[in-house]
Amino acid sequence: MKSYAAYETFIQMVEEHPERVPCRESDPDLWFAEWGEDQSINYRYAVNQCGKCPLMRECADYAIRNDEVYGIWGGLTPKDRQKMRIAREKLQQRTI
Ligand code: SF4
Repeated sequence: MKSYAAYETFIQMVEEHPERVPCRESDPDLWFAEWGEDQSINYRYAVNQCGKCPLMRECADYAIRNDEVYGIWGGLTPKDRQKMRIAREKLQQRTI
């Protein structure tokens, strides 16, 4: 289930640093590339830009916790986040 409170908190953080958040200053399509020939190139650009963002950790954390399945968040591809979610679920099962 998505946490809209977490989303609002994250967006508020983005709003506080708009000049330092690369995805605010670039074409948003680069963060939400469609499947196709150019996807790896677009994703590489967005992942690289996320590496310069002061909110990278918070962004990745938000996307993983809220099961965002599309686009680049916190420098992570959808596949990266899926792997991290699976690893997190396995860890949670071990600690129960
Ligand atoms: S980490 Fe990337 S997607 Fe997240 S706010 Fe920063 S630039 Fe945007």
